[in-house]
Amino acid sequence: MKNTNEMELIFESRSVNEGFARVAVASFMTQLNPTLEEVADVKTAVSEAVTNAIIHGYERDVQKIWIRCRMEDAVLYIEVEDRGIGIADVEQAMQPLFTTRPELERSGMGFSFMEAFMDEIKVESEPGKGTVVKMQKKIGKGRELWSTQSL
Ligand code: ATP
Ligand code: MG
Repeated sequence: MKNTNEMELIFESRSVNEGFARVAVASFMTQLNPTLEEVADVKTAVSEAVTNAIIHGYERDVQKIWIRCRMEDAVLYIEVEDRGIGIADVEQAMQPLFTTRPELERSGMGFSFMEAFMDEIKVESEPGKGTVVKMQKKIGKGRELWSTQSL
């Protein structure tokens, strides 16, 4: 039988909650005994997804953001959802350097960071309905590598 656990958070799309969300997910994942680098990777990915929900999804209007986390053995699954404006062309939005907000000094690298720091990312979005970013990462790979190297 698989070892599983899950949690859900619902919070307002205020900038202060970006830090809260990042730390909450980091805290949830400690039971997987992650390396510091894995924690930093997940925090960055969560931060990027939540920031996107706040500034793009809701255009700074204060509404709800959902985070769902689930672990199955060593794999951590994270969903970040907003019910905001949605994305018309997800493939284009995920291109490195693509941004619809250059005036806000956005660099268009958020999705690229999520892709780089997580094993998988899938974005489901519908204009006018909202966006769900689904990410997953196997935790403990860093340690496995370390223990083989030190043999
Ligand atoms: P950066 O993350 O580097 O500050 P950015 O947010 O523009 O810049 P990405 O995070 O890669 O870059 O997102 C690319 C584009 O996808 C955004 O400019 C925006 O148009 C769109 N987008 C991303 N997330 C959402 C969302 N939750 N709702 C609506 N649009 C989104
Ligand atoms: Mg972004």
